[in-house]
Amino acid sequence: TTHQQVALVTGANKGIGRGVAEQLAALGMTVLIGARDPRRGEEAAAELRAAGGDAHAVTLDVTDPASVREAAQQIEERFGHLDVLVNNAGITGSGQVSPENAHDQVPSAVDLDTVRAVFETNVFGVIAVTNAVLPLLRRSPAARVVNVSSHAASLTLTSDPDGPFAALLPSAAYSPSKSALTALTVQYANELRKDGILVNAAAPGYVDTDSNDHTGFLTVAQGAAIVVRLAVLGADGPTAGFFSEDGPVPW
Ligand code: NDP
Repeated sequence: TTHQQVALVTGANKGIGRGVAEQLAALGMTVLIGARDPRRGEEAAAELRAAGGDAHAVTLDVTDPASVREAAQQIEERFGHLDVLVNNAGITGSGQVSPENAHDQVPSAVDLDTVRAVFETNVFGVIAVTNAVLPLLRRSPAARVVNVSSHAASLTLTSDPDGPFAALLPSAAYSPSKSALTALTVQYANELRKDGILVNAAAPGYVDTDSNDHTGFLTVAQGAAIVVRLAVLGADGPTAGFFSEDGPVPW
């Protein structure tokens, strides 16, 4: 029998995560739709099945240790292993990220609770989920982990006073949380290199989703493309990298 590829995508009930789930299902993988709201997770899974995919909802709030533990246990009981983990669930911490409400997160005025909440989801949630499913990933012959980061994580891009990122959105929460996520990606990659598990960060670009009130100019399918590419890397693929569809993103 051939090894059935199983992928878990966190925050897959909508947006980029959902686009990633659709594309992985189209490649023939069994896709687990991580969603903190079981009803919306089930709806998304049902739609993917209606389109011919093998999709199943898994209730998963990345900030809730019990939820993370139960999700990992369910995956173990039902599938026994995991081949791909896409850490996609994320929040901006603002109602939306746009120049108009950037004041939410300007370093001089940010509410620490906002910073804590954003790090809880975008950084600590990734550690919790990754560690919970790592034993299942180790049972895969070629596991891949993709962390959905952002161009806003790039210290090179954001520190360039003449570049488009410096002036746009000074942020003490979202941008640093994604820098931490990228840094974490490198640390996991270094630990797991000897096990053949490739761990990379993706920058999807500015994608039309609820998180930016649909101001993004890329479609969800376009944003998902680099994430999917990193989820299906061959054995000779990179690890500890940071990529957009245009190639490596500077740290
Ligand atoms: P959306 O707001 O459309 O989707 C975010 C998803 O994450 C939703 O499914 C949401 O669930 C889920 N989520 C949030 N918090 C949790 C949690 N605690 N536990 C489980 N799931 C959670 O945003 P996007 O699709 O735009 O964002 C996806 C990822 O891409 C994020 O990490 C974001 O930072 C990143 N990104 C997006 C960019 C863009 O332009 N859109 C640019 C760069 C990076 P729910 O529906 O319940 O809220």
